[in-house]
Amino acid sequence: MKKYDAIVIGGGPCGLSAAIEMQDRGMDVLTIERGNVVHSIYNYPTHQTFFSSSLKLSIGDIPFITAKEKPKRRDALVYYRTVVDLKELNLHTYEEVQAVEKQEDGSFIVTTDQAQYGATYVVAATGYYANPNRLDAKGADLPHVHHYFKEAHPYYGLDVVIIGGRNSAIDAAIELAHAGARVSVVYRGSQYSESIKPWVLPGFESLVRHGKAKMFFNSNVEEITEDEVIIDQQGTKHTLKASTVFAMIGYHPDHEFLRSIGIEIDEETGSPVHHPETMETNVDGLFIAGVIAAGNDANSIFIENGRFHGCQIAQTIANEVEK
Ligand code: FAD
Ligand code: NAP
Repeated sequence: MKKYDAIVIGGGPCGLSAAIEMQDRGMDVLTIERGNVVHSIYNYPTHQTFFSSSLKLSIGDIPFITAKEKPKRRDALVYYRTVVDLKELNLHTYEEVQAVEKQEDGSFIVTTDQAQYGATYVVAATGYYANPNRLDAKGADLPHVHHYFKEAHPYYGLDVVIIGGRNSAIDAAIELAHAGARVSVVYRGSQYSESIKPWVLPGFESLVRHGKAKMFFNSNVEEITEDEVIIDQQGTKHTLKASTVFAMIGYHPDHEFLRSIGIEIDEETGSPVHHPETMETNVDGLFIAGVIAAGNDANSIFIENGRFHGCQIAQTIANEVEK
């Protein structure tokens, strides 16, 4: 069984950053990713523009230079692939970590669907985008209810209901309305969320003003049928036609996986128990990086700040080795 100084679980931006920081300090690091590199970004809407500038998405001191300040999904895919090449990272793609066991000597055995590896340190950077929040309503699991929006063209001329009221919901609504779908947005809040990017909201408000999209505030979904969504707006029922429903109601980390590898989860915050400076969890030598550190409040850690976790982890390990 091959033994590494460190194994990183997850080849997202924050996992890659952690791998680079440790490798740059002379460690032998393996990164294991169950999809391909930056699989979450690959799954973004096809034409997604980041709200961050490219410089704030860069990792490992490799500049991310784009013609426009804010890159598109495709620019980021090219960038992170290039980072893996330039840094010569040891990355196993399409391999899923299934178990992490602590040994008596303090090291770990990492079991994947393909092999077993030894590691002195393990960093979990498993993200959240693979786990959509589930809508608590009758019909929520029907096949035309989606949690990911890719692009608008297939919905031209169709009735589409979007549930949720932040960036994913409003971005999808704008693209769909521009592509000629009849869009209704159903949001539980009483006004537009402050999370919506200020340069995005005016475009949507204009569509609503011109009757190109409908906005239902204070509204909860009661039932989804094959062609309708029934909502309750403060006691008033509305029946909205819908051949497709996008439930853009957020995502959450896979707590079951984290618990299975020994990490305790704070029940109240949903955050894995960890030291905020070192990112080390309740298990000695087992660290977390990236958005999973945020727990239920996934809107507090992004690539912009999660990319620095790797530096904290690598420095902690270097300090430990020096002792
Ligand atoms: P992820 O990128 O989710 O990576 C985790 C990786 O772990 C995944 O590739 C997954 O396949 C892998 N994995 C999970 N479990 C296993 C396992 N058991 N074995 C092996 N591999 C596993 N953030 C910004 O800073 N700026 C932005 O402009 C921005 N725009 C966004 C736009 C959209 C539409 C969305 C959805 C998010 C956006 N974000 C943005 C947030 C950003 O995508 C996340 O914060 C970021 O992806 C977190 O990186 P991560 O490495 O922690 O997790
Ligand atoms: P999100 O920010 O978590 O928003 C989820 C939305 O769904 C919120 O409006 C929430 O209501 C609502 N909601 C949650 N649970 C619900 C339930 N059970 N029933 C009904 N409504 C529910 O998710 P997101 O918009 O998908 O964004 C995810 C991440 O991607 C964020 O980090 C975001 O910043 C990022 N993102 C970035 C861009 C970009 O860069 N351009 C675009 C899209 C997304 P409340 O508002 O009341 O909480």
